[in-house]
Amino acid sequence: MSSPLNVIVHGAAGRMGRELLALINESEQFQLAGAVVRPGSSSLGQPALGSMPFTDSFEAGDVVIDFSLPEAMTTLTQQCVAHSLPLLSGTTGLGDDEHEALAQASRKVPVLWAANTSVGVHVTAALVQRAAATLQSADIEIVETHHREKLDAPSGTALFLGQAAAAGRDVKLDDVRIDGRSGPQSRREAGEIGFASVRGGSVAGEHRVMLLWEDERIEISHAATNRKVFASGALSVASWLAAQPPGQYTMADWIEATQAA
Ligand code: NAD
Repeated sequence: MSSPLNVIVHGAAGRMGRELLALINESEQFQLAGAVVRPGSSSLGQPALGSMPFTDSFEAGDVVIDFSLPEAMTTLTQQCVAHSLPLLSGTTGLGDDEHEALAQASRKVPVLWAANTSVGVHVTAALVQRAAATLQSADIEIVETHHREKLDAPSGTALFLGQAAAAGRDVKLDDVRIDGRSGPQSRREAGEIGFASVRGGSVAGEHRVMLLWEDERIEISHAATNRKVFASGALSVASWLAAQPPGQYTMADWIEATQAA
């Protein structure tokens, strides 16, 4: 058997971070090389896994998996470059500066950012793109539901599905995107892609893309019943990414390289 992949988990004390620690603990394919938390975090020095404590920095490993906050991205990418570490980031709500930081880092190390690390969502996106292209006059609305603690809205996955729909129409999502309609003048305009966000409870992530036209409707939906889906997807992607040359990769690259889907 090949030696285990040494994984540094960034955002290790968060919901996704802890899910990753649990999976690494169960698997012989992976070994924890760092459990990184926010500087000043109350978890610092506490046990993360086995004898490994939570720390606020990292050095050696085979790959970094990040599920944290957009504010951490610039420092994180600089550290990955400084230590020549591949970076898989699933952090959502990124702005232009954070995407630029990822692009800069990808000149030196392999980088993959994905709003969703489940294969199912990427198959869903392919279906959405096809349906949007075929049904050019259908109104497209995307409804997503997440747990009450989620910070960003619409979710990164909803925007990713919106981008797939926009690609099917050959338009830019930013030109047709409408978030959370409200108020007396909120009538739908032709060509809009609308987003609605529901927050509550402990929902891991549900997305429903509706295509509506006269007397008919198609709904394409995906539901994750727990976060393990994203964590186990992230570990599989990270194994592949760690063996790639520097560059910017997508989930589609990983799927094409490793699955028949
Ligand atoms: P969370 O709030 O539970 O965890 C985030 C953690 O990051 C917190 O513990 C926070 O203290 C920590 N953090 C903040 N700054 C840091 C820093 N500088 N260094 C290290 N850690 C730092 O959130 P979560 O539910 O685990 O989600 C994290 C991110 O992942 C969100 O953006 C979420 O939308 C995204 N997410 C993506 C996927 C996917 O498939 N790509 C799936 C689930 C969640």
